[in-house]
Amino acid sequence: MPRESSEQRKKRTARIVAILKKRFPDAQTRLTYDRSSALQSLVATILSAQCTDDRVNVVTRELFTKYRTVEDFANAPQEQLEADVRTCGFYRNKAKNIRAAAAKVLRDFGGAVPDTMDALLTLPGVARKTANCVLSNVYGKNEGVVVDTHVIRVSARLGLTKHTDPVKIERDLMAWVPRNEWGLFSHLLIFLGRAYCTARKPNCADCPLAKLCPSAGKV
Ligand code: SF4
Repeated sequence: MPRESSEQRKKRTARIVAILKKRFPDAQTRLTYDRSSALQSLVATILSAQCTDDRVNVVTRELFTKYRTVEDFANAPQEQLEADVRTCGFYRNKAKNIRAAAAKVLRDFGGAVPDTMDALLTLPGVARKTANCVLSNVYGKNEGVVVDTHVIRVSARLGLTKHTDPVKIERDLMAWVPRNEWGLFSHLLIFLGRAYCTARKPNCADCPLAKLCPSAGKV
């Protein structure tokens, strides 16, 4: 694929978005939680680091019955919360971060998970990926693009970034995609990554983006 200008890349990205919207009309997070609960979104997203969505969903099904409020998480003994999230991996750190984040929400934000990027980033264990998930999935705010392992792999193959650092990848994607589609865009790339553009064996022959992808047939 010849070198693209910024305008050409925006146009190609718009075509990518249009195709993926048709192919994955239901693209959204596969984590199951109450879509009106920023607390549940925050906890599920912290647990999802280095863990499958299916595993997180098994754990949160019971967790969100047992822990219903910010106080429940903040006041939980470390060992108890560790035991309750153990199968998500990195359970010590995840339990510690969830308890500390809940305590800070209580102490500094009146018990309500904040709805701005700056405030969310002050919570222990919360980086831009988690903050973007909460802002987009619960508060309906497009403050950035969620960059997870699928988005890193797929956006590179699609030639939308040359970076490997998630913050720089996010900045690139934000430049090509209209702001009102930032939240949706990451879901679309994640769905594409799972269905066609897998890490091990991308199925370029059947991929709906093959004609727009510089890596088609070359990975
Ligand atoms: S054409 Fe191949 S490399 Fe490109 S996005 Fe599709 S599956 Fe991935």
